[in-house]
Amino acid sequence: MSRTLTARVASEGVAIGPAAVIAAADVADDLATDRSFDDVAAATAARLTDAAATVRAEGRAEEAEVLEAYVLMAADPALAGGVATRTAEGAPLVGAIRAAVAEVVAMFLAMEDEYFRQRADDVAAVGRELVATVAGIDASPTTLPDGAVVCARDLTPADTVHLDLARVAAIATEQGGPTSHTAIVARAAGIPAVVGATGLLAALEADPAAEVLVDAEGGAVVVGPDASAREDASRRIEAAARVAAEQRTYRGRRVTFAGRRILVAANVGGRGDVDGAVEAAADGIGLLRSEFLFLERGDAPDVDEQRDAYRAAVEAFEDPTIVRTLDIGGDKEVPYLRLPREENPFLGVRGLRLSLAEPALFDTQLDALLGVADPHRLRVMLPMVSAVADLEAGSARLEERARLASTTPPPLGVMIETPAAALLAPALARRAAFFSIGTNDLTQYVTAADRTNAALGSHQDAANPAVLQLIERTCRAADAAGIHVGVCGEAAGDPAVAAVLLGLGVTELSVASGRIDRTRWLVDQLDAERIREVAHEALSLPDADAVRELVAPLLP
Ligand code: PEP
Ligand code: MG
Repeated sequence: MSRTLTARVASEGVAIGPAAVIAAADVADDLATDRSFDDVAAATAARLTDAAATVRAEGRAEEAEVLEAYVLMAADPALAGGVATRTAEGAPLVGAIRAAVAEVVAMFLAMEDEYFRQRADDVAAVGRELVATVAGIDASPTTLPDGAVVCARDLTPADTVHLDLARVAAIATEQGGPTSHTAIVARAAGIPAVVGATGLLAALEADPAAEVLVDAEGGAVVVGPDASAREDASRRIEAAARVAAEQRTYRGRRVTFAGRRILVAANVGGRGDVDGAVEAAADGIGLLRSEFLFLERGDAPDVDEQRDAYRAAVEAFEDPTIVRTLDIGGDKEVPYLRLPREENPFLGVRGLRLSLAEPALFDTQLDALLGVADPHRLRVMLPMVSAVADLEAGSARLEERARLASTTPPPLGVMIETPAAALLAPALARRAAFFSIGTNDLTQYVTAADRTNAALGSHQDAANPAVLQLIERTCRAADAAGIHVGVCGEAAGDPAVAAVLLGLGVTELSVASGRIDRTRWLVDQLDAERIREVAHEALSLPDADAVRELVAPLLP
């Protein structure tokens, strides 16, 4: 009998296939063991380190980063202390680990900052890894039928490391959210996935190999779909495959809009991302989020390490690489910098504000950037600019470091991601070499809606005419000053918004590497004249939904 469960989309697409249930082993709190926690923590860290190396070698960089963070968490002295207190009181090891982990999870959940609340899931996952080590469960490779739909309560890193993703058609889990490990793995591999499908394993109990349809567009899982649901899914899968095949033919093609070349560049925010961008034949890098070099480690990278990373990125492309200087603060934390706690970190000392307050940190980064031998293809961009004086201060610092190094500074641009920067665009354009619009933050600050707060999802739409008006102003200012304007926020990869952005005059869309083919295809299909008219009409509409409705008929 067919059963439909609602779920949350973690990675878009539709797929159908035989279920492959990955069941978590039951481990009792009082499992007998003579291992010490130190020994268990070390073994777990070693296992996760191996797992990180395995997935990194397969080019699964984002997953490797998660695993590397887990290694640090498994060795966390505070966790070890919590376990030691409990075992000293006579608790069995598994029970003590679970209680100590629960305490850390509760602490994270109580934090105001959404970023830390989400880390609670990671701590819980590390707890499960520690327990698995005590129980001697070594996630051995799971043999999957071809085109399997992997179903689980939640997928731990140990589960996914051994998954042969080439055989996985889709993933469905009962737990986890859009930022869970499952979602990261699925998105990186381009596999449709849903999370939060409550009741999935119970529905599969009678027939664990039942056919499962994952609708990661509408947000549903159907166990044992009937003939009409299967036919409908097959039609959608075929249509999507046809479009994907057509989009794939755009790899490496140059595209234009109204006769002007449009750069479809890559956003890079992790160690393996440059390789992904090269494979996707990106038109350079539109945003290199340099903070990834600083995250999940014990100290800041030195000049040489940073320079090598920037140089590798620049040398990988003929088109420019835009390196954004450190954007720490807000939802991006770096514990070893020991920054004071702020009531409103998104409105605090983040981005360029932090760089100017920490000159040693900023100078090291600028020196590394100046050490890149090819200044023509390197561009430097300042985040969180909200005043002309910000740009002047950043620019003065770069020029001073260049003077000391007897070299020429690379072109310096500004991220337009605060309402003030957009309103001051004419003044900024006279002093900046280029603009790149950060629609993620611009939307957050224009709508006064925290970008990490899931309850405010409907406010976080860059199609909002209030946001578009500021973008239009930015484009006009850039045009008048004769400087380049791109977009590097998520909206650049959203077809409806991307169309409007092009219509307003943007000439670069910087997107995740996985979206490059489809973005080029989109640019090439659009009727530039009509899109321009509609983009200007959109400015006076009441809301984002109205804009999307207006644009939808013009999209391929
Ligand atoms: C943005 O704000 O749109 C952006 C691209 O930067 P980040 O998401 O890193 O803040
Ligand atoms: Mg930003």
